[in-house]
This record gives sequence, C-alpha cells and structure tokens, in this order.
Amino acid sequence: MNNTFEQFELSKEVNRALAEIGFETPTPVQLESIADVKNGVDLIVRAKTGSGKTAAFGVPIVDSITSSAAPKALILTPTRELAIQVNSDIKSFAKYKKLTAEAVYGQHNIETEIKYLTKGVDIVTGTPGRVLDHLERRTLYPNEIQYLVLDEADRMLDMGFIDQVMAIVEQIPKDRQTLLFSATMPFEIQTLAWQHMKDPKTIEIESETKTVDLIAQGYFRVAHNEKRKRLNQIIRSKKPASCIVFCNTRRMVDRVSEFLTQRGFAAEPLHGALTQARRLKTINKFKDSKFKVLVATDVAARGIHVDDLDMVINYDLPVEKDAYIHRIGRTGRAGNGGVAYSLVTPDDLMTLYEIEEHIGALIEELPLPKSGKREPRYGKTHKHEHKHKRKQGAKEVRQISRKVYSGKVHRTVIHGNEDAKSKLESGAKTTKGKAYSEAQIKQIVADYKGKKGKKRQSLLQKIIGLFKK
Ligand code: AMP
Repeated sequence: MNNTFEQFELSKEVNRALAEIGFETPTPVQLESIADVKNGVDLIVRAKTGSGKTAAFGVPIVDSITSSAAPKALILTPTRELAIQVNSDIKSFAKYKKLTAEAVYGQHNIETEIKYLTKGVDIVTGTPGRVLDHLERRTLYPNEIQYLVLDEADRMLDMGFIDQVMAIVEQIPKDRQTLLFSATMPFEIQTLAWQHMKDPKTIEIESETKTVDLIAQGYFRVAHNEKRKRLNQIIRSKKPASCIVFCNTRRMVDRVSEFLTQRGFAAEPLHGALTQARRLKTINKFKDSKFKVLVATDVAARGIHVDDLDMVINYDLPVEKDAYIHRIGRTGRAGNGGVAYSLVTPDDLMTLYEIEEHIGALIEELPLPKSGKREPRYGKTHKHEHKHKRKQGAKEVRQISRKVYSGKVHRTVIHGNEDAKSKLESGAKTTKGKAYSEAQIKQIVADYKGKKGKKRQSLLQKIIGLFKK
C-alpha cells in the first residue's frame, strides 16, 4: 500500500486542496481512520492533540458530502478556539468543493451566525452551548445531519458540557455516522459511546507517546517563593523563539504575564476571563510572532496551533495528568521536536511522579540556569528598555558620586571637546564645554539625591552627560 493520500481515492477537488496545504503523507490516525469513515463505520479514536485528527475526520467528511440547504455534518468541540481552528481546517479541505463551513460559539454574534445558518451551511463546527442554542431556536436544522463528530470528548466532559452534548446527540437523526475523538476514555464517555454509537470500532493511536517522545522534557526543582525568578532565568538562558508558559489559574496567568512584562519580555496573557475578541487577537499576534511568550491556562490554549512553537514551560504542574500531555503536545507538533520544562516545588513531587508513570517515561531533573546577569537582554519592550536605562543611569551616578567623594575627580570635569578643555585650562568659561568644579559636582550629586521624578531624571541625564567623552 502506498503511503500517500491516493490510497483513499478521494475526489480530485480534495486531493488538490491537500496538495495545496502540503499534506502528502497521512499521519497514523489518518491512515487508520479515513477509509473507515468513508465506509460508514462509527469510530472511537483515541488520539491526542497534534496527531492530525482534524483531517482524519475532516477529509473523508468533506470528500463524501454534497451541498444542500441543511447541514450535513456537525462537529462539537470543547472550546471556541478549537471550533475556529477546526472550521478553518475544514474550509481548507473543502476549498475546491462547493461546500460551506461555519463555526458557531459563545460570545460570537448570534445574529451573524443565524444569517449564515439560514442561508445554508453544509458543515457546522461549534461549542455545545451555542449549538444547543441554535437547535432550540430552530436556526440549526438537524434532520439532514449524516455525520456527528465529538472532538476532544473527554475535554467536553471535564468542562461540564456532557449534558449539553447528550441533549444535542439526541436530536441528531439516528441513521447518522458518529465519530468520537478522545485522548482518554472516562466512564461517562464510554457510556455515551455505548448508548449512542452503532457498533463502534476503536482505534488507538500510539503517536501520542511518540509525540511525547519527540519532546525533550526536563524539570527544575524550585522553592515555592522563587518560581517567578526561576522562570525569568530559564527563559533568559534558553532563549526560545516562541514559548507558552502554562499556569493553573487565571490569576496566576495575569501575575506571571505581568511579571515577565516587567522583566522585559514581550509576554501576553490568555485565559477564559478575557473577551473572545481579545483572546483571538492575542492568539493571532502570537501566531504572527508579534510577541514571544504566551502565558495561558489549559482551557484557553486548547486548539491553538502554532507550527513552530519551540518551548512549553509548566509554571504550575497541571493537576490533571492528561493536561501535561496536552500542554507539551503544543510543541513538537506534526513530527517536529520541541522542549518542555516544568517548575517543580517540593509539594509537586508526587504529581511529577504520577505524570511520569502516566506517560511511561522519566522526566529528567535539570540544573537551574545561573542567574545570568551578564546575559544579553532578550525580548525587550520599550517600557522595560526605559527602565533599564534608568537603572543603568542610577548605577553610573553611584559610580560618579563615589569618585567625586573619594577625591578621584579633581578640580574640574569637562563635558565637551578638546577646544573646550583648552579654554577651560586657560581659565575661560565655555558654553558648549562647560566646566564644573569639584564643589559644583558635589552639589549636583547632592541635588540629584534629594530630587524625585522628572527633576531627578533630568539631573541624572546631566550628570551622566558630564562624564561622557
Ligand atoms: P491536529 O491534530 O488535527 O490538530 O493536527 C496537528 C497539526 O498537524 C496541524 O498543524 C496540521 O496542519 C498538521 N497535519 C495534520 N495532518 C498532516 C499531514 N498529513 N501532513 C502534514 N501535516 C499534517
């Protein structure tokens, strides 16, 4: 069997789209699923993020359906970000077919959604709450749905959407095909599958551990009260081009992102309390490499696909073991290697052992980077640069005043050129190259010490200027 998409005998429109987006070799989950989906088999697929699961269901669905007034496929996702991402993937697979695809999700303008739903959408991707809303309003007509996809089903359960998912499943025609994707198989998901799927075939994809295997993992032992300092050192010394820092709570995301910004990193927060518009903007900026460090909660970061993310840092170890895999799976996507670091406090050690057991591998303890005072500055923001200059300035003033008071600066100091110097030596006062006596300098330094704010700054500039050649 050749290892290309040709083996699935897809339509020329879909093949053309796949060639255009650069999918040449199917990933394991695609190899295992596409033919079955085309043959009408219900599937339970245990595959995780980064395995290529979107195309595993998206490609055969796009290939099989033809357009009509009512939706033919419904894909449920746990988060808005994933809904948007899946929808955009579906659109790219369907580029040369006459099909329409749209995403529906909370905080999105419902009137806009209603407008395109009533015009006719073939493939709808959405979060459970918003899909249910449309079903109740009768703006989403379920009777012609042939494919129901539950993407990241375990996550929908974790997020408390399972009742809404059930309510949706019950409204979809029974002679549909159901495809369930889930990294884990908790009891409730097994029950759902057992009650609502027809003789489902289970596919387990090992690429999960392979993905994990491709990622260099390590942890740093840190004290609880030095986590931020250590994070700063790690990013500074490892210099990732792009990095996601995971925290367990929104509050911590804000605090860590603020801290990193103060330390001069181009960092931004991402969590569920931010508006949808802000979240999308942040994600797009991150994808476009407009800033380097994204500080995020698990939920907010789901569905973000950044192809060249080279580092993930667990500022907090995740409470739930699977989240560790989801997080580090953000790096090393589609076969690329990546790096994942975790900060581990003494309280976290048990969790770390559990994670190691769960992934079936040992995570290596790494020596903490040196404090790295002399390391080149990294990812500066203007604000920080300014602050840095001020600090430098203050240091210079300390040095200058030390020199002045220790008598190392004698009589006069000249700011200016040789011409000014000679004029001064001949006793003349100059305007450009002004001469200062030792007493005057002592006075300026004393003034500087007694001033605050802008006045202090301008004196500081003056003092620094005095001593610059
Ligand atoms: P997914 O697991 O669907 O989120 O896909 C993970 C990443 O792999 C995405 O960036 C996809 O664009 C990429 N991908 C999926 N299938 C393939 C393929 N057959 N060849 C190359 N890249 C792929």
